Amino acid sequence: MGRRSRRAQRALEAKPLDVARARGGFAMRQSAGDGDWMVRPAGPAAKRYTCPGCGRTIEPGMDNVTVWEADSLLGPEVGMELRRHWHTACWYARARRH
Ligand SMILES: [Zn+2]
Repeated sequence: MGRRSRRAQRALEAKPLDVARARGGFAMRQSAGDGDWMVRPAGPAAKRYTCPGCGRTIEPGMDNVTVWEADSLLGPEVGMELRRHWHTACWYARARRH
């Protein structure tokens, strides 16, 4: 974890509704070789997304996770605005590679 981790964590705790208001589960922080990521189980997809992991479509109803940078230089809110949808399996396959 980087030097900014503790401060970023406090910022998230100060605004629990920002993280929890969206549909699905709570976001979890995960450390990877390329930084820390916030990962939230999103449940069945509401619409089509393109998975950055495999480049294929996440069809409506498919299990997926939303992922965003935990320590975005632009702040936690902007980081969450830039979140991406991944197939659940693709994200965890990626996490194992890093
Ligand atoms: Zn995928």
